[in-house]
Amino acid sequence: MRPTMSGFGPILLLVLVGYFAVLPRPSVALSYEGYQMYSVEVKTMKEVDNLINIIEQFDGVTTMNEPRYGKITLAVPTAMVSLLRSAFTDLNMEMTLVYNDIQRLIDATTKRPEGGIDKRSMVSTDTSVVDHEKYHRYPEIVSMLHHLASRNSDIMDVSTLVYRTHEGNQVICVKLHGNSSTSGSGASTKPAIVIESGIHAREWITPAVQLWLIENMLQGYRTGDPTVTTMLDTFDWYIIPVTNPDGYDYSHAVDRLWRKNRRYISYECRGVDLNRNFDVKFNTTGVSQNCRSNIYLGFKPFSEPETSNVKELVTSLRSRLVAYLAIHSYSQLILIPWGYSEEPMFPDNYDYLDHIAELMTVAISARHGVTFLKGQAYPLLGNAASGAGEDWALKEVPGIFATCIELRPSGDDVRGFLLPPDEIVPSAEEYFDSLVVMAMELAKQARDKNSSN
Ligand SMILES: [Zn+2]
Repeated sequence: MRPTMSGFGPILLLVLVGYFAVLPRPSVALSYEGYQMYSVEVKTMKEVDNLINIIEQFDGVTTMNEPRYGKITLAVPTAMVSLLRSAFTDLNMEMTLVYNDIQRLIDATTKRPEGGIDKRSMVSTDTSVVDHEKYHRYPEIVSMLHHLASRNSDIMDVSTLVYRTHEGNQVICVKLHGNSSTSGSGASTKPAIVIESGIHAREWITPAVQLWLIENMLQGYRTGDPTVTTMLDTFDWYIIPVTNPDGYDYSHAVDRLWRKNRRYISYECRGVDLNRNFDVKFNTTGVSQNCRSNIYLGFKPFSEPETSNVKELVTSLRSRLVAYLAIHSYSQLILIPWGYSEEPMFPDNYDYLDHIAELMTVAISARHGVTFLKGQAYPLLGNAASGAGEDWALKEVPGIFATCIELRPSGDDVRGFLLPPDEIVPSAEEYFDSLVVMAMELAKQARDKNSSN
């Protein structure tokens, strides 16, 4: 899937080069004023490739969802609309305007909901410090989590993962646990669940729901809620709320639509798509080798500190790992491995994965009536991608429950990852309910296994 210039003449190339030469390079917050949202209907694999090739040649255009079958949403500077439209028309593809003002959607993600409460004026408690009506910057998230851990040190730890990011950030991991079960050396012997979240910078809802989850579990445990008590007494929960802090903060400070990490590649090129960088069928499907692309895979598996951090964590938990969840947005999906394959290919424990995924969709819908679909990525979306976290975890530790959850909104909602903050709490509630049924099912499996041994 190496990008080519096929289908474009030298004249268009000159026009584009001239256009890029005057594009401003953002050093402060990039405004999306004057950007419009377009959708392109993609019906075949050939059209997916065409779309990727075209986008890679229009530097100011950003894909709002991953290239696949169906409607692909693009953020397009108004000045580029007619050039881009004719590039698609040349290939018999059509571009349709879906929203006039992307900056307005972006502004809505930083606005407090009507009648919302500013928590800065409230006194924080031992288990409540996070304002769930706004999206927080990374340093704030770190300090709030340290606050919670310091007041709940018997059931919550905050640790730092092995590698610093390219911009020197430390990546933190929260461990939630109830009653400890330890070996002679003091190491935990409980089954472990890993939640990898915020690996894509612009998917702000994903760290936000982890913060709600963490507070909700602390409060539930302190008040003797039987469900939460079982969840924490049975499992150790390792939650990485922001796996990609450099990208996440860059999406707050500079470019709201940034997806990758912030690796420096060249003056004009930054960032690796971390969810293409895990060592599973690396460089086979759904990747680009063009470093400008949003799906640029990096030069080798685990070339990035952020993915290497996840690798070290999972490796250290290998003998106890029972579940690995990669949390993304958006599309309302529970995706089952293998996500890399364009052919029907099923892991040995596919029925087990499918069964739990089904329970999770039912639990989600029961809370607020929101529909999530479950299944493998390619049949559902026509989008296979190699090098993703959950595929790698299942390859490394066969038999575990591994999934990728794509949170709100639905795939055809124009807001995409620009989800207003008044949806943080409902989104977190349905997400939590899905974890409850998953944990209960995993606990049941563990009991069945023990009784048959
Ligand atoms: Zn994502």
